[in-house]
Amino acid sequence: MELFADIILDISHSSLDKTFQYRVPERLVQVLEPGNVVEIPFGAGDRLRIGYVMGLSEHPKIPLEKMKEIQRIVTDFAGTDSKLTALALWMRDYYGSTTAQALRTVLPMRKKTAPKQKKTLVRLVSGDEAEVVLAVFKKKNQKARVRLWEALLAQPRLPYEAAIGGLGITPSVIKALEERKLLACESDTVYRRPFQVSGEFPGKKVCLTKEQEAVIEEIAEDTKECGNYLIHGVTGSGKTEVYMELIARTVSAGKQAILLIPEISLTYQNVMRFYSRFGERVSVLHSRLSQGERYDQFERARSGGIDVMIGPRSALFTPFPNLGMIIIDEEHEPSYQSETSPRYHARETAVKRGELEGAKVVLGSATPSMEAYYGAKQGKYRLLCLQNRPGGGQLPRVEIVDLKKELRQGNKSVLSRLLHDKLEQCLDQGKQAMLFLNRRGYAGFVSCRSCGHVIKCPHCDVSLSLHRGGRLFCHYCGYSEPAPSKCPKCGSPFIGSFRAGTQQIEKLVSEAFPGARILRMDADTTKGKEGHQEILKAFGEHQADILIGTQMIVKGHDFPQVTLMGVLAADLSLHISDYRAAERTFQLLTQAAGRAGRGADPGEVVIQTYDPEHYAVVCGAAQDYESFYRQEIIYRQLAGYPPAGGLLAVHCMCQDQERLELAVSYLGRFARQAAGTAQAAVMGPADEILSKINDVYRKVLYVKHSEAGVLIRIKNLMEQYISINDGFKGIQIHFEHR
Ligand code: ADP
Ligand code: ZN
Ligand code: ZN
Repeated sequence: MELFADIILDISHSSLDKTFQYRVPERLVQVLEPGNVVEIPFGAGDRLRIGYVMGLSEHPKIPLEKMKEIQRIVTDFAGTDSKLTALALWMRDYYGSTTAQALRTVLPMRKKTAPKQKKTLVRLVSGDEAEVVLAVFKKKNQKARVRLWEALLAQPRLPYEAAIGGLGITPSVIKALEERKLLACESDTVYRRPFQVSGEFPGKKVCLTKEQEAVIEEIAEDTKECGNYLIHGVTGSGKTEVYMELIARTVSAGKQAILLIPEISLTYQNVMRFYSRFGERVSVLHSRLSQGERYDQFERARSGGIDVMIGPRSALFTPFPNLGMIIIDEEHEPSYQSETSPRYHARETAVKRGELEGAKVVLGSATPSMEAYYGAKQGKYRLLCLQNRPGGGQLPRVEIVDLKKELRQGNKSVLSRLLHDKLEQCLDQGKQAMLFLNRRGYAGFVSCRSCGHVIKCPHCDVSLSLHRGGRLFCHYCGYSEPAPSKCPKCGSPFIGSFRAGTQQIEKLVSEAFPGARILRMDADTTKGKEGHQEILKAFGEHQADILIGTQMIVKGHDFPQVTLMGVLAADLSLHISDYRAAERTFQLLTQAAGRAGRGADPGEVVIQTYDPEHYAVVCGAAQDYESFYRQEIIYRQLAGYPPAGGLLAVHCMCQDQERLELAVSYLGRFARQAAGTAQAAVMGPADEILSKINDVYRKVLYVKHSEAGVLIRIKNLMEQYISINDGFKGIQIHFEHR
């Protein structure tokens, strides 16, 4: 049997989706696999080039006599590259994207840029001798030499670039002085370091608790090479210490580790904890790095220069030669989901990479995602718990305030009387408070301020959102109805959409507490590069008494002086038009509650809401994860939402609204046909929650089915349909498989 391979030539090439067919020599027929890196003759003179095997088939696409043959499978680092390429192909098939998009995501910077050579000019003679030499140059009127020598007299070491670029010295001048042994040109290959570290880091090594030890043993001693684990540990339970110990053991076994943390938690303090433990063997990726810097970090990993990579989502693709462990901290964070094609989720992708490379995958969170916990219950992850805080600190006292009652008793302010009184007390005692507006993006739901009733879609069991012109829309199925002028449940006229910004809150609070110093943190006040770090630093130094902000303020920062946390309206995240609204609210409330009382004083938390009986609010207040999960999973099961069922979202974008509507309606019809035979349900098309961004209109379709395989088949059919129909030209279509 003859076998042919489709091969992509060069990852950095723009026409990546073009493959070339090569004959597979007989000796490789049994071993060659998609993802393999091979050497092939290409172009003039049949120069040998590197190629990536995208697929295999038994059918030649070009005349056999014109077809060339694969030379060999490349073995140096090929293990890593092959596995990463295989991962990209899996991502393409599972999440939906082109081969090019998937490869660029996984191998994003395979550019032929050599690592930067850093050269330094070093003066080899003493200052006194140098003075004499300078006088000679001056006398001979050798201007270039004078310039260079004056610079070297002032500082005995001078970067080569500074001499060439800044002083305008030619290489021949440098060469001449080098030959006269006046200076030396030192060169070393430097990797651009993203974090400048200097000096010693006193590594405070804690003595692990029994609970921590047990979790570490379970994972490290598990003989399964590629086990998957979920650590459910309350805030402050010492998860980071557990990660560090796991990483240390992985490294001493001669393997490497990747730790993913949300970008917002990549603070100097956090990173320092790792530097102090692992020194220069750690590297950090973050989104502010340039392409070149990222490339360098990946090269260091590839060549064995580091053992540990810390970073956000994209650090998952670090090309370590012998990967032993992937850890995902705060695995519930939405930032682990990519927003460009392929819209991969780091959690599933890490599990796949672990499987391909024989690495363990550890997820950690105080509020695990429904997906992870459900996965644990299904046996996909081994569940491990940390229930105590070794560093001490009690959980805060939490009170829920019913805003309906406040209104009934005549208080229309954003501050309930309870929160007002507690704020007053807190300020009197010279302590700090945080006020949290848990707004998530666009919160256009309509609710009744008298009875708390929220208007929902009759088909999808999510809240409807109010649009200009006064109509309510469902962002799943497209259903719409006029906004009512009185509550359909109790008849109250106090019904409307809930809009409040941090700026308004700041104004109201400063009116209520004229003496208080207030800081505000939201998208507006953190525009500068380090804006949000600056605000946190100022607050940490007690330059303000109250910090008002959106979710940015509740993410893992430690402020020992904060004794009061006020959640202004839990409803803002509870009723967004999304099936994950309750989960997000529970996570935010749990995190917010974890902010207060980090120091010696016990903390207090006040949660204001129109829906005080909602399980997300009640369980968030009680920090009761299990009970929240039990109630939420029932809702997901009844409605067929993930993780109980599979969901495929098809996001469509175009500047031309009419073309978009037409294309999406065709796509919807096709999806219904394709889904019909598989008994899958199609919802939509509907406007996205943000239906227009930067003049680009956005629509979405959903396909629901319990089996991932069925959704992938439907996705593939849709991809085919899109590729053969000109009507979809110019329309961006992204699949998202949840
Ligand atoms: P998490 O990541 O679960 O929020 P951390 O690892 O940041 O928790 O730990 C919270 C605090 O407890 C840190 O100040 C840490 O130094 C401290 N800590 C963790 N483990 C121990 C331990 N075994 N003994 C003493 N202090 C500990
Ligand atoms: Zn009502
Ligand atoms: Zn609906």
